[in-house]
Amino acid sequence: MSLVTMSYLLKKAQKGHYAVGAFNFPDLSSIQGIAQAAAAKKSPVIIMPAVLTMNEMGDEMCYSTIETISHEYPDIDIAIHLDHCSDFERIKRCIDYGYTSVMIDASAYPFEENIERTCRVVEYASRYGVTVEAELGHIGGTEDDISVDERDALFTKVEDAVEFVKQTNVGALAIAVGTAHGFYKSTPKLDFDRIAAIRAAIDVPLVLHGGSGVPDEDFKKAIALGITKINVGTELKVHGNFDVQKAAYATADHGDVRKIQALVRAKTQEIVEHKIDVFGSAGKMVEA
Ligand SMILES: [Zn+2]
Repeated sequence: MSLVTMSYLLKKAQKGHYAVGAFNFPDLSSIQGIAQAAAAKKSPVIIMPAVLTMNEMGDEMCYSTIETISHEYPDIDIAIHLDHCSDFERIKRCIDYGYTSVMIDASAYPFEENIERTCRVVEYASRYGVTVEAELGHIGGTEDDISVDERDALFTKVEDAVEFVKQTNVGALAIAVGTAHGFYKSTPKLDFDRIAAIRAAIDVPLVLHGGSGVPDEDFKKAIALGITKINVGTELKVHGNFDVQKAAYATADHGDVRKIQALVRAKTQEIVEHKIDVFGSAGKMVEA
């Protein structure tokens, strides 16, 4: 049994000055690829169902599939994290199923309401020792058509982060510092000063969303300045899975989908292994 809470992983990472990768997946082959990468690199990992995936696979099925796969890797610490969810009842159900970590995303609400909604989840999750991640500021998507000034206004403010963490006692905080969900049209510009300022003001592990297309050097700098969890989704969905399937189906003449699943697992593993190297979590399962 290798399931752990996200807090456990992130506190260790904070002390060790590295980040733990958190990976979304579109299907079973992708989950297997993520787990294989973590095992090959002897790295802790966060595997996180997104609500759109859970709508297809089922909330409990996502949990039990990852939990079952974790049996194959008893030496690897794995957190099962519910990604972006705004529905309290669904979050509660996921905690009851056994998810070791959940994200309440109430960032679209006004500050006070974000606090209230987050507190409600923390109150329930803390009874079971489950970690809660919240989002402050607005990370949004790369498809959002907004100007640079408008974007800056959505960034997480240091004083808000201090107040938010004090009132909610969350276990991890996703901050808006220039990344976005999806692929970028041009290289994202991270607000490194803001990361450093937030890190200096609060102790809670900080999360960077939108990790598909951020240059490796920017990841390293963000980690050195205080980012402890990095979310990667789109890159695995598209490059790790869809592109592989598309190419394979175009040439396959044997009609054996299992061979295509093996290709997806291998490509997903390759992408995740690279992220693990960049995030600095390789080998952390063999160190004391
Ligand atoms: Zn996200």
